Amino acid sequence: MARHLVTSAIPYINGIKHLGNLVGSQLPADLFARFQRARGNEVLFLCATDEHGTPAELAAAKAGKPVDEYCAEMWAVQDEIAKGFRLSFDHFGRSSSEQNRKLTQHFAGRLAEQGLLEEVTEKQVYSVADGRFLPDRYIEGTCPNCGFESARGDQCDNCTKQLDPVDLIDAHSTISGSTDLEMRETKHLYLRQSQMKDQLNDWIDTKKDWPILTTSIAKKWLNDGDGLQDRGITRDLSWGVPVKNGEADWPGMEGKVFYVWFDAPIEYIACANEWTDANGLSDADWQRWWRTDKGADDVRYTQFMGKDNVPFHTLSFPVTILGSGEPWKLVDYIKGFNYLNYDGGQFSTSRGRGVFMDQALSILPSDYWRWWLLSHAPESSDSEFTWENFQASVNKDLADVLGNFVSRVTKFCRSKFGETVPTGGAWGAAEEALIAELTTRIRAYETHMDAMEVRKSASELRAIWAAGNEYLQAAAPWTTFKTDPEQAAAQIRMALNLIRLYAVLSSPFIPDASAALMSAMQSEDDTWPDDVNAALTALPVGHAFTVPEVTFRKITDDERAEWQERFAGTRD
Ligand SMILES: [Zn+2]
Repeated sequence: MARHLVTSAIPYINGIKHLGNLVGSQLPADLFARFQRARGNEVLFLCATDEHGTPAELAAAKAGKPVDEYCAEMWAVQDEIAKGFRLSFDHFGRSSSEQNRKLTQHFAGRLAEQGLLEEVTEKQVYSVADGRFLPDRYIEGTCPNCGFESARGDQCDNCTKQLDPVDLIDAHSTISGSTDLEMRETKHLYLRQSQMKDQLNDWIDTKKDWPILTTSIAKKWLNDGDGLQDRGITRDLSWGVPVKNGEADWPGMEGKVFYVWFDAPIEYIACANEWTDANGLSDADWQRWWRTDKGADDVRYTQFMGKDNVPFHTLSFPVTILGSGEPWKLVDYIKGFNYLNYDGGQFSTSRGRGVFMDQALSILPSDYWRWWLLSHAPESSDSEFTWENFQASVNKDLADVLGNFVSRVTKFCRSKFGETVPTGGAWGAAEEALIAELTTRIRAYETHMDAMEVRKSASELRAIWAAGNEYLQAAAPWTTFKTDPEQAAAQIRMALNLIRLYAVLSSPFIPDASAALMSAMQSEDDTWPDDVNAALTALPVGHAFTVPEVTFRKITDDERAEWQERFAGTRD
């Protein structure tokens, strides 16, 4: 039995994500985790919310809530939606957890011990009235370039000029409106990433199976220009993990927190600890996934993320892990995704353009979305969601090919033989040919799923469904029945067994429909079909079943038009 540690990029806490976010990490990670579990492998699948940083503070202020309360509420919302999409996380954690606080402080202590942290004194804007340093986003003023009155400390949204807070005319705090701002000296810790350059380079060179795109992005950041830059890991904020050296105070760092980019990936590890704590397990139970000196040597660790996250996961997080000098598990494979566009443009969170996860579930069950998103995953290039394509794909693949097969077979059997697997007849050349084709296709499906080739997997699964349809069409038991009822019984016996087989094979893509089909077939045998011939006799003669409700319904033209209109922009 293989052991798979699977993580999805952790979504930021402020707001509900759209379908492009879903297909860029969480959903394909879930597909992979479900497939590995179905094969009988041991899987730990983790995700969490990324809760620290200025955007969370700003969103909480806008909502008129304390930031911790805001984060707790938004975590619950995201958790509920994840459950709605059947994302099968073993734990959905929070980067603001106690476990992550301890671990982040631990890593900082280790990095300091290894000489990889440097104290740097710099000048920052301090608001006397607010009694705090102001991050760039908390400072507004008039743009010196175009005169726009609400330019931010780091950039003018009107003319897009990059700014420094001191450039702004009449700069003021967005918290209090006070213009009593001054430059004050403050001390920060910098992670000396440049010191780790050779070690990172050597490590990346061992990744012979990574896509060229992934390694070339990493190498570019590592070597271009002045090479990998040192980076600040602390901030003058109150919301975050307090800066400590392990468990000890850090003189000169009082009142500061770690920068969100530093503590967020450590949550991948802390989340496993949250999982054991939530389930009454021991520390050894999470460490056997994360410490190579405590049993994680045989773990294969796969990370799923959008392509914009690749540099971070190939460089910055590995610096933390390698730099600690401790035997933590490093990633084995990174599966990166391009972007999903929406109907001729981009998804836009700020303009409410496109379908958001909660809205998607309010109009159709999760399997419809899962199937479309995965079968159109933006792997080798960006892909685009259009309502026409969504309607066509659901109506053809799910309703016509799979749903209709189930409906025809079960209803025909009920009317001619009753609701049990019929006896009589024997399989011949047609059935042998079908079993041979399915065997070839199922082995290909496994290969694609193991390689995380999401689109190829979907296309193979669709071909497996189609093979059953073609068999049924050619065998035509409704015609055979008139002259040779025994032969028709043998054909229907095959077709009923195909339904159970499809339920097992399809469960990583469409888990609810698969469960409904298993239940209709009154079977709990979900073992993977290593032997296809044996799998097609799992439902013996006399085995009872029920005719299921409609497995997938069609999307009408009216619905398509209405949804297209509704999701065009400006969400309430
Ligand atoms: Zn401007």
